[in-house]
Amino acid sequence: MNRISWDQYFMAQSHLLALRSTCTRLTVGATIVRDKRIIAGGYNGSIAGGDHCIDKGCYVIDNHCVRTIHAEMNALLQCAKFGVPTDGAEIYVTHFPCLQCCKAIIQAGIKTVYYAKDYKNHPYALELFEQAGVKVEKVELTEEVIDFRTIHH
Ligand SMILES: [Zn+2]
Ligand SMILES: [Zn+2]
Repeated sequence: MNRISWDQYFMAQSHLLALRSTCTRLTVGATIVRDKRIIAGGYNGSIAGGDHCIDKGCYVIDNHCVRTIHAEMNALLQCAKFGVPTDGAEIYVTHFPCLQCCKAIIQAGIKTVYYAKDYKNHPYALELFEQAGVKVEKVELTEEVIDFRTIHH
């Protein structure tokens, strides 16, 4: 029996979270991990209790939907809300984070960023990651990992 690798396991979790996204523009999921344990997760969505883009449409300003909180921010804010340290943690995201999220990730003390899909990959973000000593690695999700129908005992 082949065991799923940690990288694939955490990346699969982020893809599962992405399915909860309420913004139709991009479905993103993020999982924060410490010592091989999931400490928080998030997806692209509105403020709790707020209107969802899937119900009311996106609120677009300058080609960005301003209604949603990005998956990475939601995961970090979950840690803030419940008092969970993020220093030295790792984050698994379905897409390369936007510049704002990259800065938040660095400032929260996250030391490694694993992403599955390239998404604009801002050169300034890469520069900031390098300066901060944050490791960035692409980990693609191999699809059979989340196809539970293929599991054999
Ligand atoms: Zn939206
Ligand atoms: Zn972002």
